[in-house]
Order: sequence, then structure tokens, then C-alpha cells
Amino acid sequence: MRGRFVGDAPCRDGYTGVRPAYTYGRDPDGVGALRAEAGAARAAGLDASFVTATGLPFPVAGAVKVEDQAQFHPLKYLRGLAADIVARGGSIHEGTRVTTLDDGDPCRLTTDSGATVSARHVVVATHHPVFDHALLAARLTQHRDLVIAGPLPAGLDPHGMYVTEEGGKRSVRTAPLDNGSRLLIVTGEAFTPGEGEDTEAGYARLQAWTGQHFPGFTVTHRWAAQDNSVTDTLPLIGRLPGSGQNVYVATGFAGWGMTGGVLLRRSSPPSSAARSNRARGSTTPPDSAPRCAPPQSSSRPSGTPASTSSRTTWTRSAKAPTDP
Ligand SMILES: Cc1cc2nc3c(=O)[nH]c(=O)nc-3n(C[C@H](O)[C@H](O)[C@H](O)COP(=O)(O)OP(=O)(O)OC[C@H]3O[C@@H](n4cnc5c(N)ncnc54)[C@H](O)[C@@H]3O)c2cc1C
Repeated sequence: MRGRFVGDAPCRDGYTGVRPAYTYGRDPDGVGALRAEAGAARAAGLDASFVTATGLPFPVAGAVKVEDQAQFHPLKYLRGLAADIVARGGSIHEGTRVTTLDDGDPCRLTTDSGATVSARHVVVATHHPVFDHALLAARLTQHRDLVIAGPLPAGLDPHGMYVTEEGGKRSVRTAPLDNGSRLLIVTGEAFTPGEGEDTEAGYARLQAWTGQHFPGFTVTHRWAAQDNSVTDTLPLIGRLPGSGQNVYVATGFAGWGMTGGVLLRRSSPPSSAARSNRARGSTTPPDSAPRCAPPQSSSRPSGTPASTSSRTTWTRSAKAPTDP
């Protein structure tokens, strides 16, 4: 996502500026692929280039550099979005698990307290779809990354966002702290949950790698992030097959849910989707057959996800080169 907002006040709350994003490799054998990736990104309209110099404290064989990527404080961003929902007349109920979904017209949702909610449209955006009449789960694979974070002296800031698939994957970024130093966030040691991974050993490897490259870094927080990916790598966004006309799903973001969430709103918002279907006189694809969106030709600003489906229902977004 490029660092540019067009009158979208809630998003500004969490915005911490733009930085270049690098997908790098230290193995010289991977340079050809990185060059090709840079070329493909440029051809897709991104401000991308192949480089060998980065802000990392170690040499790389090469990297794809994409300029001006927006960085957010995710919680502030979320608070901004939540405030916007309330300002537009919506209400948010935290700690409320939805247990059943009747996909009629209107839809009826039952919560774990027994309360019910009626809604004209429902979007199942629960990461892994909790209502899944189409067995989408069979097309989703799970992976988990370990994450460590802690303060870093500002002088060691690598001035960018970095990711590599090498060495069990490493993703490095920093965010501003109030005292002028930076919060270093490093993820890696990716694994498939349930396959017996020794997570303590994984945290130890991640911490050792980080300490080696960023002396002065201390771990203050650690957690694990679980993401799901679609077997053909493209997120599933659109009407939920097998669930009537008013239920939508968004899943399979492969670790790109913040950008993917924006894509969901841009591509298949229930009300505008219904409107645009009617306006175009288009038909809804069979429930069992998710479709690819036709390539978008036109006026999307450079750097925004290329995907909107003019026929709605199923949108397949272009996947970024690697997970964050
Ligand atoms: C260090 C790090 C860096 C990242 N960097 C990026 C990045 O640069 N760009 C990017 O796009 N993404 C990035 N991500 C990934 C991004 O944060 C996730 O993909 C995103 O948060 C997933 O959002 P989601 O809404 O799909 O799922 P979630 O955030 O998991 O939200 C799902 C919600 O559904 C609720 N829920 C589940 N079941 C029920 C139920 N039955 N009833 C009611 N509610 C239910 C859950 O409680 C939860 O609140 C990063 C992640 C990490 C950890």
C-alpha cells in the first residue's frame, strides 16, 4: 500500500510514515529470481527496483526494493476504523462469539449469550472461516511465525521493512516509540502448526539471530502469528458459496490481512456489490465455482492492489511476493 491517503481520516490515526520495503536474499543463487521479481513488480506499476544496497547491518546478494510503502500502528489504525464504524451508526460488540448463522433474508446470527442479530448482509471475516458450507478449509493451509519485539537504539534503525524466505524466514521492521527510540519487530521460524515444532528452540534461534545483527536489542514481547493461505496462493474474497446471496467471506490472506482487508472493502462490499450486480445485469457465478476476476485495466493508482472484480462474487487478488 503506498503512503498516500485520500480523505480517509480514520486511517491517518495509525499512520507512521512511508519506508521502502525490501525482499532480500543473501544467497547469490537467488539473485536471478529477485531481478525477475523486480521486473514483474515494475511491469505491474510498482515503483520497484533491484538493488544490492539496503539499510540492513549485513550484506545481501540482492533485493527487490519497493519505494514509499505506508507503515501503520495496527492498533491505532484499528481504533480509527472502529471509531468510523460507530460514527456511521454502527455498533461493535467485543467478546461476543457467533455460534450459528441462518443465511436467510434477513440473515440471523446467534451468539454464545443466546442473543440474536438480524442482518441483511453478513461478512465472515473470522480469519479462518467459522461458517464454511463450501469446505473452503480444504483449500486453506495454515502456517505460524514466531515474533519477537523490543526497543532498539534509534541509531540502529535499518530504515526500511525487510523480508527474506531464507533461513526459516526473517521479517524485520521498526516502529517509532515515544522516547525517540524504535521498536524492533522480527518474525521468522515459520512452521506448520501441529507438526511438533519446538517453539522454545525457535524463539531462541530468532533471538540469537536478532541479537547478532542488532546489538543492544532486548526482547520485551514475543508471540506467534498464525496465518492461512489458499493452496493457489490468492485470497478468497466474495460471496460464500452454499450460503445464499447475503453471506460473504474473506480469508486466505497469507499474512497480508491488513492490505487484504482494504481490498475486501474495495472489491466486494455487500451492498455495493449487490448494487453493481443489478446495475450491470450480471449473473452470479455458481456457488461452488469461485472465479477469478478479470484483470483490471485502468485507473487504479499505482501501488494499490490490482484486483477488483467487476462481476463481484469472487475476487482473487494479486499476492505480494512474500509474507510479511
Ligand atoms: C509482525 C506482523 C507483521 C505484519 N505485517 C503485515 C503487513 O505488512 N501487511 C499486511 O497486510 N498484513 C500484515 N500482517 C498480517 C495481518 O496482521 C493479519 O493478516 C491480519 O491481522 C488478519 O486479519 P483478519 O481480520 O483476517 O483476522 P484476525 O485479526 O484474526 O480477526 C478475526 C477476528 O474474528 C474473530 N472471530 C473468530 N471467530 C469468531 C466467531 N465465531 N464469532 C465472532 N468473532 C469471531 C476473532 O476473535 C478475531 O477478532 C502482519 C502480522 C504480523 C504479526
